[in-house]
Amino acid sequence: MNHPAFLFTSRRAALVAIGSVSLALAACGGGSSTASTTPTPDTAGAATPAAGTKLSLSMVETTDLHTNVLSYDYYTTKDTNTLGLDRAATLIQAIRKDNPNTLLFDNGDTIQGTALADYQATVERVSCDQTLAIFKAMNYLKYDAMSVGNHEFNYGLDFLSQVTHNANWNPQYANCKGPDFPLVTANVYKSADKQGLYAPYTLLDRKFTASDGKAYTLKIGVIGFTPPPIMQWDKRWLEGNVYTEGVKEMAAKYVPEMRGKGADLVVALVHGGISTAPYSPTMENAAYYVADVPGIDAIFMGHSHSYFPDGKNYANIKGVDNVKGTIKGVPAIMGGFWGNSVGLMKMDLSWDGKQWKVSSATSSLQSINAKDASGAAVIIPADPAIKALIQAEHDATVKYVNTPIGATEYRIASQFTQVGDVSVVQLINDAQIAAYKSYADANLQQYASLPVLSAAAPFKMNFRATGYTDIPVGGVAIKNMADLYVYPNTLQAVKVTGADVKLWLEKSAQYFNTIDPSKTADQQLINPTFPSYNFDVIQGAGLTYQIDVTKPVGQRIVNLQMKGAALDPNAEVIVVTNNYRASGLGKFIGKTFPDSSYVIYESPDENREAIIAYVKAQQTLTRSKNASNRNWGFVKTPTAGKVLFESGPNALQIAIDDGITNVTLDSTKPDGSASIYQIHLGQ
Ligand code: MN
Ligand code: MG
Repeated sequence: MNHPAFLFTSRRAALVAIGSVSLALAACGGGSSTASTTPTPDTAGAATPAAGTKLSLSMVETTDLHTNVLSYDYYTTKDTNTLGLDRAATLIQAIRKDNPNTLLFDNGDTIQGTALADYQATVERVSCDQTLAIFKAMNYLKYDAMSVGNHEFNYGLDFLSQVTHNANWNPQYANCKGPDFPLVTANVYKSADKQGLYAPYTLLDRKFTASDGKAYTLKIGVIGFTPPPIMQWDKRWLEGNVYTEGVKEMAAKYVPEMRGKGADLVVALVHGGISTAPYSPTMENAAYYVADVPGIDAIFMGHSHSYFPDGKNYANIKGVDNVKGTIKGVPAIMGGFWGNSVGLMKMDLSWDGKQWKVSSATSSLQSINAKDASGAAVIIPADPAIKALIQAEHDATVKYVNTPIGATEYRIASQFTQVGDVSVVQLINDAQIAAYKSYADANLQQYASLPVLSAAAPFKMNFRATGYTDIPVGGVAIKNMADLYVYPNTLQAVKVTGADVKLWLEKSAQYFNTIDPSKTADQQLINPTFPSYNFDVIQGAGLTYQIDVTKPVGQRIVNLQMKGAALDPNAEVIVVTNNYRASGLGKFIGKTFPDSSYVIYESPDENREAIIAYVKAQQTLTRSKNASNRNWGFVKTPTAGKVLFESGPNALQIAIDDGITNVTLDSTKPDGSASIYQIHLGQ
């Protein structure tokens, strides 16, 4: 649609009282400007606000819901009160009750993340005439718009486009069921025709009641941004099909266009957090730089699974006020994740005679697990309507995750992985090696002479309160596999050198603090800021090594051997891993690979599927067969004082059963939530 030039200087004429005007707006249709046919308030006979008229908006953000529709944990198959859109829904409805002038946005990472999501995407894939469970709930809550996160791409462009009726990708999806609200991203484009995969932004005409008691229509511009590293993370789906543009560049391009088309307010849904690293068009967390683009009234953030403003996160960053919730003066918010909280931005507007101007804004977070003034827990109840909407999908998912696939004769637990237990990592590594070999034997003969190693980390070792992997003796179900390997990563293999393996292990060994053996005071073994998902244990082909925690970072791996002989730094080896570690390996180990040819295998299948296949093939897992390759340990160093680490409560028997002889129980927290263990490094 073309626009008369005058509109770009008098766009505020589009803002008028409701009545005949809203029909004119509708008649123009689509997401493009409607201002060209909009009469001025006077000719329409509708009221113009008196100067000084005020209007209060509430803008609510959910982000990184990851298909946590219900407050239910599919790994434990139990209700939980720590997550769930059904509980956040109660907060949203209370905010609406408090102020009917409410807008509701979702910032992406929406369609992936629970067994329910996997079930609907890969087990019983939803058909075109079905609405994905998460969108059923979001339609019920009447979301206004959503941005496209990185995890939206995990199941491929076809699945994403079908469940979001995205005709831009395939016209045959135009009439599929899906969200009743628009998805936006301004920086993902189709390779074939250079058109957007989705609309870059939407302009929503919304009626709000002002301080004079009358309703006025405002045009709300909502623009979305996706993290550009999707091109590495979901390379298997995206390479050759779509490409990304820089977040800041696209903001600078489209925000003036939105203003030109009459947006009274511009809201940026940035699926990314705050990073002050130098800007680049492939930057993952670009919110700090989006704030530089003029014409943005509010920034909603996500992706980092964090909270803003909470007075703690994103502290001491120039231009960032983490109490008020502003970035370089622009109101901003990040509303938690998994439905554990919502972001609430209250914005007061004032009509200055020509246009609505933002007079003030406050950002706050509302949690589903709040505390009242006395400090007592306030658990927000779930809206039961949401469970009713998706009961069938939920029941099918519970059945799916309880499906037994084999049995184990030992307890597969992660409480002592950091001190040498391999019951979790060996199962993953052996499964990964088996999956690689079954493919490579037929397809990658050129590497047949190279040793095959595998890297696996304990994803659940209570980093960020994720709890522990803990699979009891007995039947092993899919729910246990999801617990063992939380992420829907895909299997990949890299060809690297012995020197690279050492760098890789040195990075993993950063999990440990540097221990001073002469210190008599207690010392903590673990660096709590190092994610357990980066503690890769590398096994296979007779690889053994020791970690010397008394040495500084980068000098801790000693006696790195293969079948008893020192590993040649120049030797070529295959390491089986996942898509994240493979694509990001250079950054992880601090080395620049000349190109991506070191990645020699990119499986379309998930690591989890490899584990499921492996357990099915083993039928019964035994300790001697599946959990006895204790190929690494600490260099023996007597210490003057205690070296301690925290793990699951009263779990010492796990260590004993696993043959870990140098750990003792030191104490257990009074609330029973965790125990402190001592490792005797001299033993
Ligand atoms: Mn996320
Ligand atoms: Mg994300």
